Amino acid sequence: MRDMECPHCVQGFHPSFVSFRLETKVEKRENDCILYYDICPQCGKYIIYNTFVEKNGSYFSGTDPTSIENLTRMFPRNKNHK
Ligand SMILES: [Zn+2]
Repeated sequence: MRDMECPHCVQGFHPSFVSFRLETKVEKRENDCILYYDICPQCGKYIIYNTFVEKNGSYFSGTDPTSIENLTRMFPRNKNHK
């Protein structure tokens, strides 16, 4: 695991994203949505990513920032305020 740069305060931190599948009872869904989030220990702000996978498909655990950066960032929507 490498450190990553917080998109809010631009300080490096050691990421540990929590990942989970959004639960739904709707069988006729196109795919599954996976959410990843962490909170920067320097500024205390949320960093949230998402991706879509096949129905009941596998997804990576979210501890590798190089993989995280390939996903869609939902929050913050703009990069590096500084
Ligand atoms: Zn930060």
